[in-house]
Amino acid sequence: MQLMNYINGNFCPQASGKWITNLNPATGEEICKVPVSNSKDVKEAINSAKKAYPNWSKNTPHERAMWLDKIANKLEEMFEEIAQLESMDTGKPISLSRSVDANRSVANFRFFSEMIKGMEIEEFEMKDATNYVIQKPIGVGALITPWNLPLYLLSWKVAPAIGMGNTVVCKPSELTPMTADLLMRAVDEIGLPAGVINLVHGNGIETGSSLVEDSDIDFVSFTGGTVTGSKVASSAASSFKKLSLELGGKNSSIVFADCDFEKTIAGVVRSGFLNQGQICLCGSRIFIEEEIYEDFKNSLINAVEEMKIGDPLDEETDLGALISKEHLKKIEYYSNLAIEEGGVLLTGGVPCLPKDFENGNWIAPIIVEGLSYESRCSKEEIFGPMVTLHKFKEESELIKMVNNTRYGLAGSIWTKDIERGRRLSESIETGMIWINTWLHRDLRVPFGGVKDSGVGREGGRWSLGFFSEAMNVCVKQE
Ligand code: NDP
Repeated sequence: MQLMNYINGNFCPQASGKWITNLNPATGEEICKVPVSNSKDVKEAINSAKKAYPNWSKNTPHERAMWLDKIANKLEEMFEEIAQLESMDTGKPISLSRSVDANRSVANFRFFSEMIKGMEIEEFEMKDATNYVIQKPIGVGALITPWNLPLYLLSWKVAPAIGMGNTVVCKPSELTPMTADLLMRAVDEIGLPAGVINLVHGNGIETGSSLVEDSDIDFVSFTGGTVTGSKVASSAASSFKKLSLELGGKNSSIVFADCDFEKTIAGVVRSGFLNQGQICLCGSRIFIEEEIYEDFKNSLINAVEEMKIGDPLDEETDLGALISKEHLKKIEYYSNLAIEEGGVLLTGGVPCLPKDFENGNWIAPIIVEGLSYESRCSKEEIFGPMVTLHKFKEESELIKMVNNTRYGLAGSIWTKDIERGRRLSESIETGMIWINTWLHRDLRVPFGGVKDSGVGREGGRWSLGFFSEAMNVCVKQE
C-alpha cells in the first residue's frame, strides 16, 4: 500500500518519488509506504490553500460550522476504521483507540462546530462610541502533529482552523500517517471545497521545515517535542508568523497521605502508563507523602504488574507496543541511566515479548525509586512507560522538587483536602493541574504549558482566538 498527498482536492503522488516505510510497532511488519514530500509538493499544497482561501473565508461562521458537522458525521461512520488504523499504526490498545482517539476525533469537530455557531461579536461601549471586536481569519496555516495521538491532535487543529475561515496544509508524523489519510478520504467524500484542507506526508527535516519556512504560511500550530518546537519557532519568527507551540512535559503526580487510596492507585497508574506513557500529560514523577510511601509503593507495583501487555488488537490489552525501535532504545537508555544515577528498578524493564510479536517494540512498565529529584531521570522527558518515585514530608520541600524541571505542562494532586489541593496548584509552575483525577478533559478550558512545554493556549475560545485575528472597529456616535 502506498499513501498519497492530498492537494487541491486530489490524491496525488510526491515529486521526489522517495518513500519512507511505515512499520507496525507491535509486529515490525510493513503497513505502508509513506511519500517523502519535498519543497515542490509543499509549495503546491500551500498554493492550493491560498487559492481556496478567498471563497472559504467569505463563508459565514455558521456555514463553516455546518461543514465541521459534515466531517464529524463522516468520521463517525468511520469510527471503527479510525480505531483499527490508529491501533495498528501506533501500537496502542484498541480499547484506547476507540475510547480516546476515535471518540475525540469526532468530538473535536462537533465541539468546534457548536462553539463557532455560538460565537458573538463582542462590544465595548464608551460614552461617545461603540467598539466591535471582529474575529477575522488569518490566511493559510501549517498544522504539524506528532505520533502519539495522531487524528485526535490533527482534528484538534483542523476543526478550529478551518472553522474560523482559514485554509490549511497538514503534516502528520511520518510514523503514523494512516488516520491523516483517512481524514482526507472523509473530506473528499463529503465534497469539502478543494484546497481548504491539504495534506503533505513526509519527515520533519524536509517536509515539515519547508512548510514552516514558506513565506506564504501565515500561522503555524505545532505539537511535538521541545527541541523541534524551538527550531519551528526560530524558523517562523523571521517572518512573524502567528505561532502556537504545544511541547513536551515532565508532569508530577502528588499523593498526600489523606488521599482515597484505591482511587489514587488507579489514577496514578492510569496517568503514568496510559498509551504506554506516551502522552505529553502523563505523570511520570510520583511524589508520595512519607507516611504512606511504602504502602503506596507496594500497591502501585502490584497494580502495574497486573496490567496486561500484548496484542494491541485484543480488547483485554492494557499496554501495547512503543512507537519505534529508536523510542524503545531511548526508554532502555533512561532505565540504565536510572541505575547509574543511583536508582533501583522495582519492576519492569526486561523485554517482554508476547508470542508472535518478537519483532515489535516491547518493554514492561518500569518503576524506579531512590533517585534524587535533581537526577536527569526525574527532570527530563522520557515519554514512555517509566515513572520515578519520590518521598516528601513538607509542602515547601515538595514545591521545590516539583518545580525542579524545565517543563511545565500538567500535573495531578491526590488529597481529600481540596482547599490544600487548590492552594498547592497555584504554587506549581504548570499550565494544567487535576485534583483527584487526571486527563479529565473539558474541551472549553485552556490547554497548554509554561516554560519548555510551550507557548500559547489552545482549547475552547483560546483555539478560536489563536486561529483568528481580533480586529477592533470603533464607531463614534453623532
Ligand atoms: P517531534 O518533535 O519529533 O515531531 C513532531 C512533528 O514535527 C512531526 O510531524 C515531525 O515530523 C515534525 N518535525 C520534525 N522536525 C521538524 C522541523 N524541523 N520542522 C517542522 N516539523 C518538524 O515529536 P514526536 O512526534 O516525537 O512527538 C513526541 C513529542 O510530542 C513529545 O515531546 C510530547 O511531549 C510532545 N507532545 C506534546 C503535546 C502537547 O499537547 N503539549 C501532545 C502530544 C505530544 P516527523 O516525525 O515525520 O519527522
